[in-house]
Amino acid sequence: MEKNYRSELVGCFGDPVDGNPTGVMEEAAFTACGLNYRYITAKVCAGDLPAAFAGIKAMNFCGINLTMPHKIDIIPLLDGLSASAAIIGAVNTVVNRGGKWIGENSDGKGFVESLRQQGCTLQGKYITILGAGGAARAIGIECALAGAASITIINRSETRGQELVELIRKNTSAQARYAPWTPAVRIPEETQILVNATCIGFDQDRAQAPDIDYAAITTGMYVSDVVFNPVDPLFLQKARAQGAKTISGLGMLAQQGAINFTLWTGKPAPLDVMVQMLEKNFS
Ligand code: NDP
Repeated sequence: MEKNYRSELVGCFGDPVDGNPTGVMEEAAFTACGLNYRYITAKVCAGDLPAAFAGIKAMNFCGINLTMPHKIDIIPLLDGLSASAAIIGAVNTVVNRGGKWIGENSDGKGFVESLRQQGCTLQGKYITILGAGGAARAIGIECALAGAASITIINRSETRGQELVELIRKNTSAQARYAPWTPAVRIPEETQILVNATCIGFDQDRAQAPDIDYAAITTGMYVSDVVFNPVDPLFLQKARAQGAKTISGLGMLAQQGAINFTLWTGKPAPLDVMVQMLEKNFS
């Protein structure tokens, strides 16, 4: 067989990006599957996105992940969007499909899959989401598309919260409503799945938890967090103390990484390897 010294290239653009663990997870998966792919994590400042994107097109990358601040700014540079990325209005993964660069959003899909893995389905469920930023938009839309009956958005900024409610109402058949984030806000009684989709509790902020009435959390609830570092944030610890079943943001991170792996390589992802690598990095 002819030798091939060229690796297929993928990666991530962001700023800040130094603490983004996706590269080690994807590279572990490529190695486990015997694929000659490399994942390049690159600091790309806001104004440099067009130049950086032109660079990876010229170098025939297979695709790229986008994180802060590029998830929206990438859209005008692309040839097309997947259905859910078009609704969400943000892209976290781009795939090179024979020279056409297509934007996808795997954040919400990864979230839905992480719940399914824990035996929690979305059909007919009442969901409460804390937050209305990029992660909340992806989660809200994908939960609604997966059959959730009702979604309550609790957010600090009412404008942003109402925007997400309108987005869900306009594009899905789920009911949606906004509730203001008052101190020690009470979670609606009918909530079956509660999600922290804010950055409260992340990394340096680990002593913090969202300001809600934890006594309203019941044993029948699934409680999930987008925060993956720490793996077991204070929010989930407090929910577990109320008897709820908790699901870490690490599962969402691994699942969206697995979706991206398959989009780029066309092969099933070795999820166990990816989870183990993340756990090792955060232990
Ligand atoms: P955004 O900046 O888009 O949104 C942040 C959200 O948090 C907003 O709703 C904001 O409210 C709210 N918020 C921030 N600080 C506070 C506070 N002190 N009190 C109340 N609300 C607050 O960020 P993203 O949505 O992109 O990211 C959110 C988190 O999700 C990050 O920690 C990120 O790392 C994580 N994430 C995890 C993923 C995973 O795979 N596990 C994937 C993607 C993201 P307001 O609108 O009022 O400003």
